[in-house]
Amino acid sequence: MNFEKIDELLVGEPLYRIKQIKKALYKDLIEDWSQATTLPMSLREKLNKESPLEINAELFESKDKKTIKALIAFKDGIKIESVLMRHRDGRNTVCVSSQAGCALGCAFCATGKMGFKRNLSAFEIAQQVLLFGRLLKKNKEKVANVVFMGMGEPFLNYDNVLSAINFLNDPDGFGLGARNFSISTAGIIEGIRKLSNEKMEINLAVSLHAPNQKLRSELMPINKKYPIGKVFEAVEKYVKARKRKVMFEYIMIKDVNDSAQDAKELAKLMKNPLYFVNLIPLNPVPGFEPSPLEKIKKFKKILLGCGVQATQRYRFGQDISAACGQLAGKNNLK
Ligand code: SAH
Ligand code: SF4
Repeated sequence: MNFEKIDELLVGEPLYRIKQIKKALYKDLIEDWSQATTLPMSLREKLNKESPLEINAELFESKDKKTIKALIAFKDGIKIESVLMRHRDGRNTVCVSSQAGCALGCAFCATGKMGFKRNLSAFEIAQQVLLFGRLLKKNKEKVANVVFMGMGEPFLNYDNVLSAINFLNDPDGFGLGARNFSISTAGIIEGIRKLSNEKMEINLAVSLHAPNQKLRSELMPINKKYPIGKVFEAVEKYVKARKRKVMFEYIMIKDVNDSAQDAKELAKLMKNPLYFVNLIPLNPVPGFEPSPLEKIKKFKKILLGCGVQATQRYRFGQDISAACGQLAGKNNLK
């Protein structure tokens, strides 16, 4: 799929034509220009030749059918992964990648291990959602939420991430409400600040994973550049400006960050009633083991006891390596 080319091909076309194309692409979710029946035949042929709509993806479905992982290949051979999660209540969430690889090298993350390849363009990001939108349409279903929790650090590719959200938010196109997007960051302060000033009401999630400077720096090297205290200052300002909830992601790693003391320290950080903790059982990676379920329950109980909202994340698609932190675009590792 070559979106960038579309603009070039449409130079000189009237405005209503652009609207028809937007509707065909993002609302009707056409997979081939011949399906865009509002367009003249000659234009359809030209578009099909110069800017085909096929997305080059390989799909993998989990045994329980709740998760589908897509391995998408771009023109330059770079491969990335996106995941569709089908929740029990019938809602569909797409987890998108913002970069191929990631430069931040968190100790527990498979994407971090592969290093940084390149930023994805806004079209490459939006395409991941279109792919699943097309798939769901066949069952008369829709994408309900988009989360930037795939490969990469979205705030290190801020402009393209926001442009992609803009495309998908456009009511003449895909029409997904801003509140249905969530960006997860490892704590890039400039990004949190910028998001505070955006017009759109996008949700913020922060990957915390440790309740203090020392442990967080061991797990997430970026914490040395953006210390935990400064991250909280930025988040506080975001909450003050936006009055929206903020989710703190906390991976539960056996004997690393899962003690009663850690829970108490974490509770102290959750000062604002709009903060809440999402406990994530670690998806095993070499060198780290997930906390036992009992320990997670105990940890959660301490948080709740301190008046902190805490939820536990369901694990999606472990059998197809589609779970958080397992996205490594295996072919990129060769
Ligand atoms: N770079 C961003 C967004 C992508 S990572 C960030 O770090 O927030 C998405 C989520 O998956 C983050 O919360 C991340 O910490 C988590 N994650 C990474 N490795 C994991 C693992 N092995 N098990 C469970 N979650 C993991
Ligand atoms: Fe990058 Fe997020 Fe993985 Fe850390 S957890 S290496 S920031 S993708």
